[in-house]
Amino acid sequence: MPVVRDRALLLRRFPYGESSLVCHALSRTHGRVHLLAKGAYRPTSRFYAALDLFDTLELEWNATPGRELSLLAAGEIETRRARIASDLEAFRAGTTLLELAAFGAHEGHANPELFDLLATGLDALARGVPPAAALVEFELGLLHNLGLAPALAACASCGGAAPPLEPGPAARVAFSAGSGGRLCSACTSAARAAGRRVGTLPAAVLERADEILARRVSALALDSDELERVRDFVARFLEVHLESRPASYRRFLSAPNRNARP
Ligand SMILES: [Zn+2]
Repeated sequence: MPVVRDRALLLRRFPYGESSLVCHALSRTHGRVHLLAKGAYRPTSRFYAALDLFDTLELEWNATPGRELSLLAAGEIETRRARIASDLEAFRAGTTLLELAAFGAHEGHANPELFDLLATGLDALARGVPPAAALVEFELGLLHNLGLAPALAACASCGGAAPPLEPGPAARVAFSAGSGGRLCSACTSAARAAGRRVGTLPAAVLERADEILARRVSALALDSDELERVRDFVARFLEVHLESRPASYRRFLSAPNRNARP
């Protein structure tokens, strides 16, 4: 059986049988893998306490094509991030990162950028970066990684230039999550005439999202109100494009839309 060795982050883990553990992991260069860690709950096991969520692991497994579970052969902690599990807000944010990363993690499909993005987000949480800032940067990075980044400068429908984002707290621009971003005035009129819903969003929120997406600005530079609004926009956009509401979004998105017209 071919033995594979790779760095990995656990996306989910659950007990299996009396003393074993099944881990869904995002490996850096082998995509998503499902691993069986036999006897992991026994204190004498070499995997005991070595397979925690949020840590970067160095794993070795026997890859058997066609098998649903690969057998974990060795596992070591490469980067420990114990601080995340000791802080409730950081823990919740960390769980959200794992759940969202799972949407982009596929078996047999390497996605090292996604792995690095997740490791960077978890590093931020372990350093004590405010969870909302770590989340916004990860969520925008994920959209980019999945090829779903919102069109913020061009019209999502015709590809022409969208009207410039005008500064000012009250300025709003046409935006269609379903179309993938902003719409120019001609496409807005055409969509509305065809009975499609085109909402509006504060220009300032989209400008901030654009700056973070392009890495011109760190989410840490935003005040808490801006951060909350950008997150609201990004979470709703992700929900449309993932075609499901991630379980960890339920609480955040149960609040009224923070970018609704006042
Ligand atoms: Zn257009």
